[in-house]
Amino acid sequence: MTFEAWKNDEATIHRMQESVRAGRVSHAYLIEGPSYTDKPAFAREFAKAILCPRRVGDGCGQCAICSKVDHDNHEDLIWIRRMLGKKWIAIQQVEEMQAQIARKPNGPRYIVIIDPGDLLREDSQNRLLKTLEEPPGETVILILSENAQRLLPTIRSRCVMCRLEGVPKEADENVTQRAVQLTDQILDGSPYYLRTQTLGKIPKGGGDTAMLIDCMEKHCRELLFSRDEHGIPASPEEIGRLVDGLEKARAEIERGLSVEYALKKLLLSI
Ligand SMILES: [Zn+2]
Repeated sequence: MTFEAWKNDEATIHRMQESVRAGRVSHAYLIEGPSYTDKPAFAREFAKAILCPRRVGDGCGQCAICSKVDHDNHEDLIWIRRMLGKKWIAIQQVEEMQAQIARKPNGPRYIVIIDPGDLLREDSQNRLLKTLEEPPGETVILILSENAQRLLPTIRSRCVMCRLEGVPKEADENVTQRAVQLTDQILDGSPYYLRTQTLGKIPKGGGDTAMLIDCMEKHCRELLFSRDEHGIPASPEEIGRLVDGLEKARAEIERGLSVEYALKKLLLSI
């Protein structure tokens, strides 16, 4: 596998490669990792490792099969993603996948990638459960997730858990400073207009927002573990509430809520 981007995940990757080489591929994997990990790319590499006839457990990256996986046109590789304009992955998408994998694959097996499982509502998860309980043939299901706790325990218990750490991107100095300022303003009860002013100075864009939320959470943790109790502007409960609010905003942004709206909602709610 060409896994350089996951140098912090060597043990996990080794375990997965060994299972492929030994012919012990599981029916379902739950691949969890923070927002900055490219989980779809990881899933694609794993699919190649499973399907490539030339280098089992690695994927040669050059044969017709690897090339089809790379170009998302492999007949036995099924991606389930949210459709344009939708908040969630539709239950029909899960059902269509089930109808497809009930038929014989072109090659040795189907690989289904759910990107991400966080966008499956409970009814869709329950529908998926049927496949996890009785997977047809040699089908392998990869469920990607930023937070596996969002999935039903019945789903989690049927998957092999793989936690990716990835390589965190260094936060931009501006984002870091603003994150600290915004966190302190929320915790010390600064007026709403001051908080939105700080928020307004943060460059907009998906990566920066994820980074802002990461930095705010990091600052909250630092405050919680700070030895200088007098310097802490809030109680542990208040800091905990902010962390919960940040998690909620992150989930809402993932589900397609505008970044600005999700963050302003957070600023108003605390
Ligand atoms: Zn290959």
